[in-house]
Amino acid sequence: MYDVAIIGGGPAGLTAGLYAARAGWKTVLVERGLPGGQAATTDRLENYPGFPEGVGGPELMMAFAEQAARFGLETRYAQARAIDAESKRLTLEDGEIEARAFILALGATPRKLGVPGETENIGRGVSYCATCDGAFYRGKRVAVIGGGDTALEDALYLSRFARVTLIHRRDRLRAMGAQVTKAQASENVEMLLSTTVSRIERAGEGLLLRLSGERDLAVDGVFVAVGVEPQTKLVQGLLALDDAGYILAGEDTCTSVPGIFAAGDCRKKPLRQVSTAVGDGATAAYMASAYLEKQI
Ligand code: NAP
Repeated sequence: MYDVAIIGGGPAGLTAGLYAARAGWKTVLVERGLPGGQAATTDRLENYPGFPEGVGGPELMMAFAEQAARFGLETRYAQARAIDAESKRLTLEDGEIEARAFILALGATPRKLGVPGETENIGRGVSYCATCDGAFYRGKRVAVIGGGDTALEDALYLSRFARVTLIHRRDRLRAMGAQVTKAQASENVEMLLSTTVSRIERAGEGLLLRLSGERDLAVDGVFVAVGVEPQTKLVQGLLALDDAGYILAGEDTCTSVPGIFAAGDCRKKPLRQVSTAVGDGATAAYMASAYLEKQI
């Protein structure tokens, strides 16, 4: 029996793990893949405080995991299948965990563009992770679709070794100013604003993007960066969610079920960053502590 079980090993989950374990609670973190979440697939973070020159996402997440482990956080690598709020049991693909409190740090995954030819070509030119797959396109031509922070970061990362066309549906980018200025100044980034992609077709070894205005663009690869969706399937029907599937929990991270807390990108909130995930993780561990102390 654990005091606290955390599901999800991104920045929110690892911070919750650090705080809960350091407070002396017997704590386990359940992660289905490599720890670090989306931050671990980010080449460089320039706005995480304390690193004037920026810091690599994988490097930062490795340090988060090491720090939490030093205070006794246990990690179990498995897929979580279901939570029973009554019996306080978490079913995993390979067993069960009992815990007195749960912290959900389930994160979010890239959203699909939803056009014909997208799903069929995943892994054959269509990707959702520039830092994972970018290296295949050295010296080639790629497109990035989207106008948010992820799209701009992907375009800048890829522009170091590839010719990039950034395609955004509106005439204004959503991303923060600094990244936009850098992309505008880059010789390797071309921007197609007010442009949509209606279809992705195979063209020999590469892809042909059918664009609005009866235009085509031939590329070797396309990186889709059109936002994220919360990974909250596990708690559908158990917790109150908003229409988009984000867990309804306030700044105190308390969900609609006592003893279950939500932290990071899976929570309904105005800003999804590593810095805000860290704050959530610390708050969730603090609130879980308060909950456990009341039970004693
Ligand atoms: P986002 O901010 O939601 O931006 C998604 C972009 O995709 C928007 O430009 C949106 O267009 C476009 N889009 C959405 N659906 C589309 C569709 N069907 N077809 C074409 N375009 C579509 O998502 P994100 O960039 O992945 O960022 C997610 C969160 O992480 C944000 O809160 C972001 O600030 C944060 N983040 C922060 C950093 C950082 O601070 N270093 C880095 C990465 C991400 P519209 O603009 O027209 O809506």
